[in-house]
Amino acid sequence: MTSHTEQSAVSVLGLGPMGRALAAAFLDAGLPTTVWNRTPGKDRELAGRGAVGAPSPEEAVAASRLTVVCVVNYDAVDAIVRRGAVTGALKGRTVVNLTADTPARARDTAAWAAEHGIGYLDGAIMTPTTTIGTPAGVFLHSGSEELYREHRPVLDALGGTHTHLGEDIGRAAAYDIALLDIFWTAMAGYAHALAVARAEGVSAQELAPFAKGIGEILPPLFELGAEEVDNGRFSGEGNPITSAVSSMAHIVHTSESHGIDAGVMRAAEGLARRAIGLGHGTDGFLRITEIMNPR
Ligand code: NDP
Repeated sequence: MTSHTEQSAVSVLGLGPMGRALAAAFLDAGLPTTVWNRTPGKDRELAGRGAVGAPSPEEAVAASRLTVVCVVNYDAVDAIVRRGAVTGALKGRTVVNLTADTPARARDTAAWAAEHGIGYLDGAIMTPTTTIGTPAGVFLHSGSEELYREHRPVLDALGGTHTHLGEDIGRAAAYDIALLDIFWTAMAGYAHALAVARAEGVSAQELAPFAKGIGEILPPLFELGAEEVDNGRFSGEGNPITSAVSSMAHIVHTSESHGIDAGVMRAAEGLARRAIGLGHGTDGFLRITEIMNPR
């Protein structure tokens, strides 16, 4: 147990898989690290490597000028830090919240922190636990640039790349939501594809090399698409929506002929048909961005 004097460079609240990875990276970088988790016992391995296990969150935050919080969501963050003793102990210190949630929750937490004299930076981790402490980690941050610069040396111990996205505290969460939107709809598409393939007697492993090829088509499309969406011009040259929608219909029919739910594909097909109905049939598929959120 640590005393209330500042002995650590950093405290970590939350020792799920990601919190443990963060604390381990701080220790590997030689930073004195204090840890706390709601359920006791998760600090055992970290303690063996030199971490100080605090018996309460207030004692954990009192041990360092900087506290990194990484728990399941902001309800959990609130349950930990928005309590008299912890809030009081955080006054004059800084919290870097690497928990994932919505931009609105990030702004709400920042307002709470400002009200209580707590420095606050919001962040998002875009890569899995195995990347923490390696060059492959990707960290996004938002909030006061001055505060970010002050604590950057400690954050650098986590390895990877750190990007400050601006002073608007909601920006890291906004990027996180958009990027996870890509990830989860892609994973839903992949899971659906495997179900339909299996119904047609094609195993996941047989499909894998070709599935990888489909994945490789996407990065250049992200670059082209960004230009199109920002300019509001959607070239359908090579693959107009009229052609894309026909391909989608084949997937829906095959899927439903096997009794497999085609909800995700039906939603995409529906948007594409609306774009055609509005006279954009010769445009490219990303025209549907305008249907979902007209500028
Ligand atoms: P979880 O998302 O499962 O979070 C587990 C942690 O949350 C544990 O420390 C748990 O404590 C704590 N917790 C849950 N509810 C409460 C509560 N009411 N009060 C206090 N603590 C609570 O696992 P991860 O560690 O993997 O993820 C943490 C964050 O990191 C999440 O926001 C996640 O989205 C993000 N992230 C994770 C990645 C990953 O690969 N794992 C990748 C990128 C981001 P207890 O042990 O007591 O249950």
